[in-house]
Amino acid sequence: MLNIVLFGPPGAGKGTQSEKLIAKYKLIHLSTGDIFRSNIKGQTELGTLAKSYMDKGELVPNEVTIRMLESEVNKNANANGFIFDGFPRNKVQAEALDNLLKSKNTSITLMLALEVSEAELKKRLLLRGKDSGRPDDQNPEIIQNRIDVYNNETSPVKDYYSEQGKYKGIQGIGEIEEIFNSLCKEIDTIK
Ligand code: ADP
Repeated sequence: MLNIVLFGPPGAGKGTQSEKLIAKYKLIHLSTGDIFRSNIKGQTELGTLAKSYMDKGELVPNEVTIRMLESEVNKNANANGFIFDGFPRNKVQAEALDNLLKSKNTSITLMLALEVSEAELKKRLLLRGKDSGRPDDQNPEIIQNRIDVYNNETSPVKDYYSEQGKYKGIQGIGEIEEIFNSLCKEIDTIK
């Protein structure tokens, strides 16, 4: 299996690149943010809970997030592999993911991290907020909170994969196609 963690701060381009990667490598895309948003749309109990955190730019509690992710992985027992987008967002989630994959006799192949400056992120998110309808993209204070949460809680997850020799940083500013090619190059060297 090819299991990739696509990592990076909010607005780094994980969703855009995920779409291209799943098409090329025939992987299942698991975006925790997208799953939460579809639960909000469907007005599920999980959606209501998630919304109360997402609207503030905070992380949804680990327990529910991990349980949801596990159930999505279990739904795709015959997958070639996964792209994890927006997960893991802290060390507890990273450990849970390792344990889950181990129980399926597989593991994370690589973490690909999109590197984008904070000024560029803020610009992109506000622009996205204009037409995405995402409430968390429309308020500069919430955007700042998401970036702070990323810097304080999520960014250390890099070290977790780095220690396992699985971390690769990729320049996330430039043409979409150019960034995609850099990601593919990394995947193709280890595949
Ligand atoms: P972005 O990375 O652009 O902020 P996402 O769609 O990945 O967008 O996430 C949106 C929100 O969903 C996050 O701010 C957070 O509230 C929630 N969320 C997504 N993934 C997780 C996760 N792994 N753990 C906790 N909360 C999450």
